Amino acid sequence: MEAGRVIRSGGLVAFPTETVYGLGGNALDARASEKIYAAKGRPSDNPLIVHIADLEELPDLVAEIPPMAETLMNQYWPGPLTLIFKKSLKVPPETTGGLDTVAVRMPDHEAAAMLIRASGVPIAAPSANTSGRPSPTRAKHVQEDLSGRVDIILDGGEVGIGLESTIIDVTGSDPVILRPGYISLDMVKELFEGVRMDKACTEPLKEGERPKAPGMKYRHYAPKAGLTIVEGGRAEVSFYINNRIKEESSGGNKVGVLCTEETAGCYPGGICKCMGRRADEETVAHNLFAALREFDEEEVSQIYSESFYGGQLGQAIMNRLMKAAGYHLIQV
Ligand code: AMP
Ligand code: MG
Repeated sequence: MEAGRVIRSGGLVAFPTETVYGLGGNALDARASEKIYAAKGRPSDNPLIVHIADLEELPDLVAEIPPMAETLMNQYWPGPLTLIFKKSLKVPPETTGGLDTVAVRMPDHEAAAMLIRASGVPIAAPSANTSGRPSPTRAKHVQEDLSGRVDIILDGGEVGIGLESTIIDVTGSDPVILRPGYISLDMVKELFEGVRMDKACTEPLKEGERPKAPGMKYRHYAPKAGLTIVEGGRAEVSFYINNRIKEESSGGNKVGVLCTEETAGCYPGGICKCMGRRADEETVAHNLFAALREFDEEEVSQIYSESFYGGQLGQAIMNRLMKAAGYHLIQV
């Protein structure tokens, strides 16, 4: 496989996974990791996730495999779960943003596994977007952001989940969720009563505070227009948003609205992106990043979004939305 050869010789390949598209390079090659940071414009203290296709690859990357990790791996690998281990000396500090831990995941995606096996090395891969933009859920999003900065883009169509993996730190006595994702707090609770969420998952950081997942301190997923989340009863939310639309469009501005099938007809003056039925969280998650990107193309000046707390995926969806909004949420 040509793409495998490119990785092995130090090049970059963007590839689909079940979560989002990744920008991959040889995880054991410091220069390949540096190329990834440069291509994305990513701050070099924001570590990369190392992707493997087979369990035999893990012992080489980590100093130890705690029993807690074994349980989680048995249950959820391959799948949308990244685990944080103490790293081995084999993994260069460039890949881990200088940390002495390493993030490892086994994606549940045929093309990703084929690429990893063909390259013969573990693949370091952050999301394949320009740093700060919404993560790519289609090959064309990768092309928009990274064309000319990546050797090959493998097109696997639309990804399945559409939100990045759940990250769990397994280096302490209890698991700690550093980033919510498809694998929810409740799912992990069934295995470990003591699991908790790092507070950076739900709250903005205070000046000078350092989250355990360095990536959580950066504004992410941000569309070009300002985004405000409006929370409250359906009637109050649409009343508020429609007032904003009226006011802002009288000045000639286009206003975007992130809504659901149930409310798609409630915002006649706005540019609405319907993400699916409210109760169908998987579809909402799947459509979120693409919708944020579409607003960029349509040059709206402001975006209002309904709130999506609740259900299994609510925490993950709201984590991404809140970061995209710079934590700007209004209760009505
Ligand atoms: P991305 O692949 O773009 O979704 O970003 C990877 C995420 O994993 C970022 O938020 C990183 O901060 C986080 N991450 C990667 N390695 C580590 C690590 N060793 N410890 C904590 N978080 C990590
Ligand atoms: Mg990312």
